[in-house]
Amino acid sequence: MLDRIADKARNGKRLDRDEGRFLLAEAGLLELGALAQEVRFARVPDKRVTFVIDSNPNYTNVCITDCQFCAFYRKPGDPEAWTLTVDEVLTKIEFAASKGATTVLLQGGHNPALPLQYYLDLVTETRRRFPQVTPHFFTASEIQTMAMVSHLTIGDVLDRLWEAGQRTIPGGGAEILSERVRTRIEPKKGGPAAWLDVHRDAHRRGFKSTATMMYGHVETPDDVVDHWEAIRELQDAHGGFTAFVPWSFKPGNTLLEKWIKHYKGPNAYLRMLAASRLYLDNFEHIQASWFSEGKRAGQIALHFGADDWGGTLFEENVHKAADYVNTITVEDITALIREAGFAPVQRTTTYEIVKAW
Ligand code: SF4
Repeated sequence: MLDRIADKARNGKRLDRDEGRFLLAEAGLLELGALAQEVRFARVPDKRVTFVIDSNPNYTNVCITDCQFCAFYRKPGDPEAWTLTVDEVLTKIEFAASKGATTVLLQGGHNPALPLQYYLDLVTETRRRFPQVTPHFFTASEIQTMAMVSHLTIGDVLDRLWEAGQRTIPGGGAEILSERVRTRIEPKKGGPAAWLDVHRDAHRRGFKSTATMMYGHVETPDDVVDHWEAIRELQDAHGGFTAFVPWSFKPGNTLLEKWIKHYKGPNAYLRMLAASRLYLDNFEHIQASWFSEGKRAGQIALHFGADDWGGTLFEENVHKAADYVNTITVEDITALIREAGFAPVQRTTTYEIVKAW
């Protein structure tokens, strides 16, 4: 089967569901990695690996959505609940900017007490005070929350964010785009359409976004193929995804921890990455996740189809809440990329080249 898949991949033919399932469940890992790397170099020919200087602060941990995999949120009124003012968020962005960040990925819980103007002010003020920083703000379900509290459509909210100066949207909250999985782990967030519709509306308006996947919990290979199919189809329609970013579920302090004690290790990660490179034939960039999988796994990922290292993540609180902490400097990143045999190149949020390091 892998020979047939290799033949199709080399000739630009699209893989089907059976082939996707085979890659996830049966293909030899090293052969799969070698093929993914061949396809990576066909798409991104030189030996460069991009990275971004970024930070991932949060504006609130208040949330009414109760996802089973989330250790970060607190219900409204909880003694540990917090919400930052616009100025407090801007102080965090100022700190990131002072360290050279060109991207700030800002996300938070679904806090029904926050009016639409709060979000718009965050975008406008970030654009005004830190023009070198791209406000990569608010995942699909946060945009849905804004629509709900302001009695507007998703399209109206996207238009308002665009007018405020936002141009990109982070891909978080996709988890696994399968009805079965989402009903099980995040019943209040809606099915795959909830995430897909926001990204579709955004791409139609000219926004760029990433597509993510959080695997390693209750999904089957069929669910992963559902996810791939959904984002591949959307990418065919609008070409709005800049990259695909998979990472493994971290069970610490979550409701799902009762059933899933450990996160999937590097082998499962490398398989997911390589198989995704082959299946997602219309995605230019596949991002390695040094943060979520470890720096050494991140280096190996560069030989399994990934062409991007991700970011510096000066601040990160969501994984930290699950007792998972990892930090890095720009110097570490460039050294690790070089040690893995590649040339480090800094990029923007939308993968334009800033400079070679
Ligand atoms: S993942 Fe997001 S939406 Fe779900 S509970 Fe956590 S903060 Fe809320």
